[in-house]
Amino acid sequence: MKPVVVIHGGAGAVSRGTASPALEHEYHAALQRILTSAQAVLAQGGSALDAVSVAVTGLEDCPYFNAGHGAVLTSDATHELDAAIMDGATLRCGSIANVHHVRNPVLLARMVMERSRHVFFVGEGAERFARANGVTLVERDYFTTPARLEQLRRAQHEAADGADSDGQGQPILAGRPTRPADSNEPIDPDRKFGTVGAVALDADGNLAAATSTGGITNKQVGRVGDAPVIGAGTYANNATCAVSCTGTGEMYIRMVAAYDVAARMQYAGATLAQAADAVMFEALPSVGGKGGLIAVDQHGNIALPFNTDRMYRGYARLGEHPVTEIYPT
Ligand code: ASP
Repeated sequence: MKPVVVIHGGAGAVSRGTASPALEHEYHAALQRILTSAQAVLAQGGSALDAVSVAVTGLEDCPYFNAGHGAVLTSDATHELDAAIMDGATLRCGSIANVHHVRNPVLLARMVMERSRHVFFVGEGAERFARANGVTLVERDYFTTPARLEQLRRAQHEAADGADSDGQGQPILAGRPTRPADSNEPIDPDRKFGTVGAVALDADGNLAAATSTGGITNKQVGRVGDAPVIGAGTYANNATCAVSCTGTGEMYIRMVAAYDVAARMQYAGATLAQAADAVMFEALPSVGGKGGLIAVDQHGNIALPFNTDRMYRGYARLGEHPVTEIYPT
Protein backbone atom coordinates (compact mmCIF):
# COMPACT_ATOMS: atom_id res chain seq x y z
CA MET A 1 0.00 0.00 0.00
CA LYS A 2 1.68 3.16 -1.24
CA PRO A 3 0.33 6.65 -0.48
CA VAL A 4 -1.23 8.17 -3.57
CA VAL A 5 -3.01 11.37 -4.59
CA VAL A 6 -5.41 11.58 -7.55
CA ILE A 7 -6.78 14.81 -9.05
CA HIS A 8 -9.26 15.93 -11.69
CA GLY A 9 -9.79 19.27 -13.40
CA GLY A 10 -13.13 18.55 -15.03
CA ALA A 11 -14.53 16.47 -17.87
CA GLY A 12 -15.96 17.55 -21.18
CA ALA A 13 -17.47 16.51 -24.45
CA VAL A 14 -15.98 17.53 -27.74
CA SER A 15 -14.26 15.48 -30.37
CA ARG A 16 -10.54 14.93 -30.35
CA GLY A 17 -8.32 16.84 -32.71
CA THR A 18 -9.38 20.42 -32.09
CA ALA A 19 -7.04 21.17 -29.22
CA SER A 20 -3.86 23.15 -29.64
CA PRO A 21 -0.92 20.95 -28.58
CA ALA A 22 0.71 23.94 -26.91
CA LEU A 23 -2.30 24.59 -24.71
CA GLU A 24 -2.72 20.91 -23.93
CA HIS A 25 0.91 20.90 -22.89
CA GLU A 26 0.16 23.72 -20.46
CA TYR A 27 -2.72 21.78 -18.95
CA HIS A 28 -0.47 18.77 -18.46
CA ALA A 29 2.19 20.99 -16.90
CA ALA A 30 -0.33 22.52 -14.48
CA LEU A 31 -1.62 19.08 -13.46
CA GLN A 32 1.96 17.82 -13.00
CA ARG A 33 2.91 20.80 -10.86
CA ILE A 34 -0.14 20.43 -8.64
CA LEU A 35 0.32 16.67 -8.29
CA THR A 36 3.96 17.18 -7.37
CA SER A 37 3.06 19.59 -4.56
CA ALA A 38 0.43 17.21 -3.16
CA GLN A 39 2.79 14.26 -3.49
CA ALA A 40 5.38 16.19 -1.46
CA VAL A 41 2.86 16.50 1.37
CA LEU A 42 2.46 12.72 1.44
CA ALA A 43 6.22 12.21 1.16
CA GLN A 44 6.72 14.32 4.29
CA GLY A 45 4.30 12.10 6.18
CA GLY A 46 1.41 14.53 5.72
CA SER A 47 -2.19 13.39 5.93
CA ALA A 48 -4.53 12.59 3.09
CA LEU A 49 -6.55 15.62 4.20
CA ASP A 50 -3.52 17.86 3.81
CA ALA A 51 -2.71 16.35 0.41
CA VAL A 52 -6.21 16.96 -1.00
CA SER A 53 -6.26 20.47 0.51
CA VAL A 54 -2.98 21.35 -1.19
CA ALA A 55 -4.06 19.81 -4.50
CA VAL A 56 -7.44 21.53 -4.64
CA THR A 57 -5.97 24.87 -3.52
CA GLY A 58 -3.50 24.61 -6.41
CA LEU A 59 -6.30 23.82 -8.86
CA GLU A 60 -8.40 26.72 -7.50
CA ASP A 61 -5.51 29.13 -8.01
CA CYS A 62 -4.97 28.01 -11.62
CA PRO A 63 -7.16 29.97 -14.08
CA TYR A 64 -7.52 27.01 -16.45
CA PHE A 65 -9.92 25.25 -14.13
CA ASN A 66 -13.45 26.09 -13.07
CA ALA A 67 -12.86 26.77 -9.38
CA GLY A 68 -11.49 29.77 -7.49
CA HIS A 69 -9.65 32.08 -9.91
CA GLY A 70 -11.12 31.24 -13.33
CA ALA A 71 -14.48 30.00 -12.02
CA VAL A 72 -17.45 30.21 -14.38
CA LEU A 73 -20.12 32.89 -14.10
CA THR A 74 -23.81 32.79 -13.19
CA SER A 75 -26.56 34.22 -15.39
CA ASP A 76 -26.04 37.54 -13.54
CA ALA A 77 -22.32 37.48 -14.39
CA THR A 78 -21.49 36.85 -10.73
CA HIS A 79 -19.57 34.05 -9.07
CA GLU A 80 -21.08 31.54 -6.67
CA LEU A 81 -18.48 29.06 -5.49
CA ASP A 82 -19.10 25.69 -3.85
CA ALA A 83 -16.69 23.27 -2.13
CA ALA A 84 -16.53 20.30 0.21
CA ILE A 85 -13.98 18.18 2.02
CA MET A 86 -14.34 14.87 3.88
CA ASP A 87 -12.07 12.90 6.20
CA GLY A 88 -12.41 9.16 5.64
CA ALA A 89 -10.98 8.29 9.05
CA THR A 90 -13.60 10.11 11.13
CA LEU A 91 -16.38 10.83 8.59
CA ARG A 92 -16.08 14.48 9.55
CA CYS A 93 -16.83 16.82 6.68
CA GLY A 94 -17.31 20.47 5.78
CA SER A 95 -19.17 22.11 2.89
CA ILE A 96 -19.80 25.64 1.70
CA ALA A 97 -21.94 26.93 -1.15
CA ASN A 98 -22.58 30.23 -2.85
CA VAL A 99 -19.57 32.18 -1.58
CA HIS A 100 -18.06 35.00 -3.61
CA HIS A 101 -15.21 36.52 -1.61
CA VAL A 102 -13.33 33.45 -0.42
CA ARG A 103 -10.11 32.99 -2.35
CA ASN A 104 -9.86 29.25 -1.69
CA PRO A 105 -13.29 27.75 -1.01
CA VAL A 106 -11.80 24.35 -0.15
CA LEU A 107 -9.92 25.89 2.78
CA LEU A 108 -13.16 27.40 4.08
CA ALA A 109 -14.84 23.99 3.76
CA ARG A 110 -11.99 22.53 5.79
CA MET A 111 -12.45 25.22 8.44
CA VAL A 112 -16.14 24.36 8.64
CA MET A 113 -15.12 20.75 9.21
CA GLU A 114 -12.53 21.58 11.85
CA ARG A 115 -13.96 24.59 13.67
CA SER A 116 -17.72 24.35 13.48
CA ARG A 117 -20.28 22.03 15.02
CA HIS A 118 -22.16 22.28 11.72
CA VAL A 119 -21.19 20.75 8.39
CA PHE A 120 -22.67 23.00 5.69
CA PHE A 121 -22.78 26.80 5.39
CA VAL A 122 -24.19 28.76 2.46
CA GLY A 123 -24.14 32.34 1.19
CA GLU A 124 -23.96 35.17 3.68
CA GLY A 125 -23.56 32.83 6.64
CA ALA A 126 -20.63 31.09 4.97
CA GLU A 127 -19.00 34.43 4.23
CA ARG A 128 -19.54 35.52 7.82
CA PHE A 129 -17.96 32.29 9.07
CA ALA A 130 -15.05 32.96 6.71
CA ARG A 131 -14.51 36.47 8.06
CA ALA A 132 -14.72 35.28 11.66
CA ASN A 133 -12.13 32.58 10.99
CA GLY A 134 -9.62 34.70 9.14
CA VAL A 135 -9.65 33.01 5.73
CA THR A 136 -8.22 34.98 2.83
CA LEU A 137 -10.91 37.14 1.22
CA VAL A 138 -10.68 38.78 -2.20
CA GLU A 139 -12.73 41.19 -4.28
CA ARG A 140 -15.36 39.53 -6.43
CA ASP A 141 -13.52 40.30 -9.64
CA TYR A 142 -10.51 38.22 -8.51
CA PHE A 143 -12.34 35.15 -9.83
CA THR A 144 -13.24 36.58 -13.24
CA THR A 145 -11.15 35.98 -16.34
CA PRO A 146 -11.79 37.36 -19.84
CA ALA A 147 -12.25 33.79 -21.09
CA ARG A 148 -15.08 33.16 -18.62
CA LEU A 149 -16.84 36.42 -19.53
CA GLU A 150 -16.68 35.47 -23.19
CA GLN A 151 -17.95 31.99 -22.36
CA LEU A 152 -20.93 33.47 -20.50
CA ARG A 153 -21.67 35.78 -23.40
CA ARG A 154 -21.72 32.82 -25.79
CA ALA A 155 -23.82 30.70 -23.45
CA GLN A 156 -26.39 33.46 -23.06
CA HIS A 157 -26.45 34.00 -26.80
CA GLU A 158 -27.15 30.29 -27.29
CA ALA A 159 -29.79 30.32 -24.57
CA ALA A 160 -31.54 33.16 -26.36
CA ASP A 161 -31.46 30.96 -29.46
CA GLY A 162 -33.03 28.13 -27.48
CA ALA A 163 -29.92 26.00 -27.92
CA ASP A 164 -29.28 25.44 -24.24
CA SER A 165 -31.72 22.64 -23.77
CA ASP A 166 -32.30 19.28 -25.34
CA GLY A 167 -35.91 19.47 -24.29
CA GLN A 168 -35.33 17.30 -21.23
CA GLY A 169 -34.31 20.03 -18.87
CA GLN A 170 -30.63 19.34 -19.40
CA PRO A 171 -28.29 22.18 -18.50
CA ILE A 172 -26.51 24.05 -21.22
CA LEU A 173 -23.52 21.74 -20.96
CA ALA A 174 -25.58 19.04 -22.57
CA GLY A 175 -26.66 21.25 -25.48
CA ARG A 176 -25.41 21.03 -29.02
CA PRO A 177 -21.79 21.94 -29.77
CA THR A 178 -21.45 25.45 -31.13
CA ARG A 179 -17.77 26.10 -30.94
CA PRO A 180 -15.92 27.03 -34.09
CA ALA A 181 -13.92 24.12 -35.47
CA ASP A 182 -10.70 26.11 -35.43
CA SER A 183 -10.88 27.02 -31.74
CA ASN A 184 -7.62 26.23 -30.02
CA GLU A 185 -9.14 25.63 -26.59
CA PRO A 186 -8.22 22.12 -25.47
CA ILE A 187 -11.82 21.57 -24.55
CA ASP A 188 -14.96 23.41 -25.57
CA PRO A 189 -15.45 25.77 -22.64
CA ASP A 190 -19.20 25.81 -23.12
CA ARG A 191 -19.37 22.05 -22.79
CA LYS A 192 -16.79 21.57 -20.13
CA PHE A 193 -17.41 20.44 -16.59
CA GLY A 194 -14.43 22.13 -15.04
CA THR A 195 -14.92 21.36 -11.39
CA VAL A 196 -11.72 20.33 -9.61
CA GLY A 197 -11.16 17.65 -7.03
CA ALA A 198 -8.70 15.39 -5.29
CA VAL A 199 -8.69 12.12 -3.37
CA ALA A 200 -5.78 10.67 -1.43
CA LEU A 201 -4.53 7.77 0.66
CA ASP A 202 -1.81 8.54 3.21
CA ALA A 203 0.84 6.41 4.95
CA ASP A 204 -1.48 5.81 7.91
CA GLY A 205 -4.09 4.28 5.61
CA ASN A 206 -6.45 7.23 5.86
CA LEU A 207 -8.53 8.45 2.94
CA ALA A 208 -9.78 11.98 2.13
CA ALA A 209 -11.68 13.70 -0.67
CA ALA A 210 -12.20 17.34 -1.65
CA THR A 211 -14.07 19.07 -4.50
CA SER A 212 -14.38 22.72 -5.52
CA THR A 213 -16.30 24.43 -8.31
CA GLY A 214 -17.79 27.54 -9.82
CA GLY A 215 -20.68 25.33 -10.96
CA ILE A 216 -21.90 25.55 -14.55
CA THR A 217 -21.76 28.54 -16.88
CA ASN A 218 -24.90 30.70 -16.93
CA LYS A 219 -26.35 28.80 -13.98
CA GLN A 220 -29.36 30.35 -12.35
CA VAL A 221 -28.46 32.49 -9.35
CA GLY A 222 -28.75 30.41 -6.17
CA ARG A 223 -28.29 27.08 -7.96
CA VAL A 224 -26.03 24.62 -6.13
CA GLY A 225 -24.61 21.51 -7.79
CA ASP A 226 -23.25 18.24 -6.46
CA ALA A 227 -19.73 19.32 -5.49
CA PRO A 228 -20.53 20.50 -1.93
CA VAL A 229 -23.24 17.91 -1.34
CA ILE A 230 -21.69 15.12 0.74
CA GLY A 231 -22.47 11.79 -0.92
CA ALA A 232 -23.26 13.36 -4.30
CA GLY A 233 -20.04 15.04 -5.46
CA THR A 234 -17.74 14.28 -2.54
CA TYR A 235 -17.40 11.35 -0.13
CA ALA A 236 -14.71 9.58 1.92
CA ASN A 237 -14.83 6.63 4.27
CA ASN A 238 -11.80 4.54 5.25
CA ALA A 239 -14.01 1.45 5.14
CA THR A 240 -14.50 1.80 1.40
CA CYS A 241 -13.11 4.68 -0.65
CA ALA A 242 -12.73 8.41 -1.25
CA VAL A 243 -14.51 9.93 -4.26
CA SER A 244 -14.64 13.33 -6.01
CA CYS A 245 -16.96 13.92 -8.97
CA THR A 246 -17.29 16.29 -11.91
CA GLY A 247 -20.17 16.55 -14.35
CA THR A 248 -23.81 17.46 -14.66
CA GLY A 249 -24.38 18.14 -10.97
CA GLU A 250 -28.13 17.71 -10.93
CA MET A 251 -27.80 14.09 -12.06
CA TYR A 252 -24.97 13.37 -9.62
CA ILE A 253 -27.22 14.60 -6.82
CA ARG A 254 -30.14 12.49 -8.02
CA MET A 255 -27.98 9.36 -8.16
CA VAL A 256 -26.05 10.17 -4.93
CA ALA A 257 -23.10 9.28 -7.12
CA ALA A 258 -20.08 9.50 -4.80
CA TYR A 259 -21.77 7.57 -2.01
CA ASP A 260 -23.07 5.02 -4.50
CA VAL A 261 -19.47 4.04 -5.30
CA ALA A 262 -18.82 3.45 -1.59
CA ALA A 263 -22.16 1.68 -1.05
CA ARG A 264 -21.54 -0.79 -3.86
CA MET A 265 -18.23 -1.71 -2.23
CA GLN A 266 -19.69 -1.94 1.25
CA TYR A 267 -22.96 -3.74 0.59
CA ALA A 268 -22.36 -5.61 -2.65
CA GLY A 269 -18.69 -6.46 -2.22
CA ALA A 270 -17.71 -4.69 -5.44
CA THR A 271 -14.09 -3.75 -6.05
CA LEU A 272 -13.29 -0.06 -6.42
CA ALA A 273 -13.08 -0.42 -10.21
CA GLN A 274 -16.37 -2.33 -10.45
CA ALA A 275 -18.19 0.17 -8.24
CA ALA A 276 -16.79 3.26 -9.99
CA ASP A 277 -17.56 1.85 -13.45
CA ALA A 278 -21.10 0.87 -12.49
CA VAL A 279 -21.84 4.38 -11.24
CA MET A 280 -20.17 6.07 -14.21
CA PHE A 281 -21.42 3.86 -17.03
CA GLU A 282 -24.74 2.53 -15.70
CA ALA A 283 -26.25 4.56 -12.88
CA LEU A 284 -25.42 8.08 -14.08
CA PRO A 285 -26.27 7.47 -17.75
CA SER A 286 -29.68 6.12 -16.67
CA VAL A 287 -30.65 9.71 -15.85
CA GLY A 288 -28.52 11.37 -18.53
CA GLY A 289 -25.59 12.12 -16.21
CA LYS A 290 -22.37 13.10 -17.95
CA GLY A 291 -18.91 13.62 -16.52
CA GLY A 292 -16.39 11.67 -14.51
CA LEU A 293 -15.13 10.81 -11.07
CA ILE A 294 -11.91 9.91 -9.31
CA ALA A 295 -11.65 7.41 -6.47
CA VAL A 296 -9.10 5.64 -4.27
CA ASP A 297 -9.47 2.80 -1.76
CA GLN A 298 -7.49 1.83 1.32
CA HIS A 299 -5.23 -0.49 -0.67
CA GLY A 300 -4.19 2.31 -2.98
CA ASN A 301 -6.26 1.12 -5.93
CA ILE A 302 -7.44 4.06 -8.00
CA ALA A 303 -10.23 4.58 -10.55
CA LEU A 304 -10.68 7.55 -12.90
CA PRO A 305 -13.67 6.70 -15.15
CA PHE A 306 -15.50 9.27 -17.27
CA ASN A 307 -18.24 9.04 -19.87
CA THR A 308 -17.34 12.19 -21.80
CA ASP A 309 -14.68 12.53 -24.47
CA ARG A 310 -12.05 13.70 -22.05
CA MET A 311 -11.25 14.44 -18.43
CA TYR A 312 -8.28 16.37 -17.09
CA ARG A 313 -6.80 14.03 -14.54
CA GLY A 314 -3.70 12.59 -12.97
CA TYR A 315 -2.23 10.69 -10.06
CA ALA A 316 1.02 10.50 -8.16
CA ARG A 317 2.16 7.58 -6.05
CA LEU A 318 4.86 8.12 -3.48
CA GLY A 319 8.29 7.97 -5.10
CA GLU A 320 6.91 7.71 -8.64
CA HIS A 321 6.67 10.30 -11.38
CA PRO A 322 3.18 11.85 -11.58
CA VAL A 323 1.00 10.65 -14.46
CA THR A 324 -1.39 13.07 -16.22
CA GLU A 325 -3.98 12.36 -18.91
CA ILE A 326 -6.70 14.19 -20.81
CA TYR A 327 -8.10 11.62 -23.26
CA PRO A 328 -9.21 8.03 -22.76
CA THR A 329 -6.22 5.71 -22.54
N1 ASP B 1 -20.50 19.20 -11.05
C1 ASP B 1 -20.41 20.64 -11.16
C2 ASP B 1 -21.73 21.26 -10.85
O1 ASP B 1 -22.73 20.73 -11.27
C3 ASP B 1 -19.99 21.09 -12.52
C4 ASP B 1 -18.68 20.55 -12.96
O2 ASP B 1 -18.33 19.41 -12.65
O3 ASP B 1 -17.95 21.28 -13.62
O4 ASP B 1 -21.75 22.29 -10.22
